[in-house]
Amino acid sequence: MDYNRLAELLFPHIQHDPQYYEELFPRRELPAEAKVTRIGPSPTGFVHLGNLYNAIIGERLAHQSQGVFFLRIEDTDNKREVPGAVETLLAAMDGFGVHFDEGATIDGETGSYGPYRQRQRKEIYQSIAKKLVQMGYAYPCFCTEDQLNAMREQQIAGKLNFGYYGQWAACRDMDYESIEARVQAGEPYVLRFRSQGDPENFLPVMDAIRGELSVQENYQDFVLLKSDGIPTYHFAHVVDDHLMGTTHVVRGEEWLATLPMHVQLFDTLGWQRPLYCHTAQLMKIDGDVKRKLSKRKDPELALEYYQAEGYLPDAVWEYLLTVLNSNYEQWRIDNPEAHYMEFPFSTEKMSNSGALFDLEKLENISKDVICAMSAEAIYEGLLGWAERYDTEFAALLADRDYALAVLNIGKGGDRPRKDLVNWKQAVDFLSFYYDQRFRIEDEFPTDLEARKEILSRYLELIDFSDDNDAWFAKVKQICEEQNYALQPKKYKKNPELYRGSIVEVSNTIRVAMSGRQNSPDLWQITQTLGEERSRARIRAAMEA
Ligand code: GLU
Repeated sequence: MDYNRLAELLFPHIQHDPQYYEELFPRRELPAEAKVTRIGPSPTGFVHLGNLYNAIIGERLAHQSQGVFFLRIEDTDNKREVPGAVETLLAAMDGFGVHFDEGATIDGETGSYGPYRQRQRKEIYQSIAKKLVQMGYAYPCFCTEDQLNAMREQQIAGKLNFGYYGQWAACRDMDYESIEARVQAGEPYVLRFRSQGDPENFLPVMDAIRGELSVQENYQDFVLLKSDGIPTYHFAHVVDDHLMGTTHVVRGEEWLATLPMHVQLFDTLGWQRPLYCHTAQLMKIDGDVKRKLSKRKDPELALEYYQAEGYLPDAVWEYLLTVLNSNYEQWRIDNPEAHYMEFPFSTEKMSNSGALFDLEKLENISKDVICAMSAEAIYEGLLGWAERYDTEFAALLADRDYALAVLNIGKGGDRPRKDLVNWKQAVDFLSFYYDQRFRIEDEFPTDLEARKEILSRYLELIDFSDDNDAWFAKVKQICEEQNYALQPKKYKKNPELYRGSIVEVSNTIRVAMSGRQNSPDLWQITQTLGEERSRARIRAAMEA
């Protein structure tokens, strides 16, 4: 077979050879240790946590080493494409503080290794495909869907390995004349790789996270170009990551199964393989089982979830770093003031047995992050979130001084309160400071009669110029007058002697004021709400 002739028959329109592209995209001039990484999301409109997870790894590897981090849009499967998906992705990445040096942008792209959208790279793939045909490593396959299905049935019946290989590869040895006739008749075909692999052979492939892997040689004549001339993921990955100079391919472990094809392509083309970093699946504990996060069952798989809940990007980063690197938490303890970007991230410290995702842990980290912020910064964050997700609350926040007074409650001292988890929860938590949102959420600890007694006396005694001690002395006075023990222990010992303890008295006032049995410092709340509003709440609670 004259492979050059075949290549011309299949790709008459392809003028540039691979050398042309090698020169167009020269090796990058970077320091020796610099890493070039990328993410390659498909524009499906669904941005998931895995995208951010892999983006953080790529971003850190590149930017810790003066390298390059870029965005490639993997849009070869247009059935999955959703309009506006690239914008959604870029907005999400930007919102989480992930910045690209090169790649697709909303209205185009930046960088010299583009195009960065795969559908715009058709000619490049076909140039490499043409080369493979010339080398005898690729051939057209006219098998129809029905033929392939029939083949599969036979393979199932014979308990044989699936796929297009050996005796099953019907089009592999077709002669030139037959191919020419069918191409000229306009019959659709795909382009397949002509594998020389032997399934008995295993080759070592380095993985930065998993160490050296032993990979079975690929023996399948897999598809390089689909019938519309668009590449499969396998072919596009190899061509793009070679020409774009990717040094580290960070991607999910679901690609391990097809890794043999990828290394075979790199080797056949005489290109240096990148260092693979196959990341573990995101898992969660669900009851007694550990399972993969699922799009259907777990809203937290969508990145949008974290924005809607109002998690700070910093908290999500810190959280993901704890999942990614086993030494992050210790580093955080040792360097409480340092920015997380100073953490020396490394692929060696990554787990390869499933990354356990735990919302509770994220909540705890998030509490710490918000706790360390000034009231002003919290205000800005909260307002930004509310303007998008709760405009009614955003309007309440317009009184900035009041909001700051509220946010400053419990802030100072050695043990500042950690009440706020994320902006959505914060809106809920802070709602009682606003009459429009205030409601009694918890039960009163006392019955209506006792409650009235406590609260009416409280109204008589309360003086808004009191300090905290003087105020507390009056709460104690009510206890003594109405026979509540000043120490809960005393009441517990002799319950028949008292009506209750100071806990019942102060919580009666607390529920009246905040609607909850648990709240920040009661006197500070009272001071912040002011006399008029406080009195109104106490009076209202006496009537309920
Ligand atoms: N488009 C692929 C995906 O979404 C990218 C895999 C890769 O990074 O190579 O899974």
